[in-house]
Amino acid sequence: MANQAVIIYGPPGSGKGTQAELLVRKFSFIHFDTGRYGESLIYAPGAEKNTVLLRERENFETGKLFTPSWTLRIVSQATRRIAKAGFGIVYSGSPRTMFEAFGDKNNKGLLSILIKLYGKKNIIVVELKVKSQTSIERNSKRVVCSVCGLPILASSKNKKCSFCAGPARKRTLDKPEIIKVRLKEYRERTYPILKKMRSLGFRIREINGEPSPYKVYEQVVRRLGLRR
Ligand SMILES: [Zn+2]
Repeated sequence: MANQAVIIYGPPGSGKGTQAELLVRKFSFIHFDTGRYGESLIYAPGAEKNTVLLRERENFETGKLFTPSWTLRIVSQATRRIAKAGFGIVYSGSPRTMFEAFGDKNNKGLLSILIKLYGKKNIIVVELKVKSQTSIERNSKRVVCSVCGLPILASSKNKKCSFCAGPARKRTLDKPEIIKVRLKEYRERTYPILKKMRSLGFRIREINGEPSPYKVYEQVVRRLGLRR
């Protein structure tokens, strides 16, 4: 199988992270979660002494996207490392702005980096479609394990992590007022990328994100042309 770069789009709560995790469990992909990677950098020991990281912390905690130039830098570095190690890559939160995707006069955007590393025909874009009501509901119910960070399903009876039995916690990111900002950021800053990609000849696979994750996953595998 040729190595592929899979970009999963969808509003917060559409299941991007879950689908990316499912893909890496079966195929030789590395999941690059921009939010989680950025979060690990801004809360790393010593980060409170770095003005750039403090600025990104402020963005993160208020539901805004990271500064595009900073994101582009961290994402392209990680992408090159993953490609050189011979793995395919799945993004569940990149590129999130037009600048990150397409760059400008002085910066190469993520897409041209990916074309060079993987070839245009191996860049696959998936759009998970969910109603905004679903997006809001899923985010407001979302809890994660306070120890290992894995999601705890809303249907779980005792609200304990099925992996490490750790107790559930709510993420600051999923407070209702923060979710509203995140949805607006998606609509205004991320969604326009899909339109431009279409006009550049990228094929966008639209998939209904409303059903259970395993059902959505069947569609993802089928539309990506992967075999089990
Ligand atoms: Zn856990």
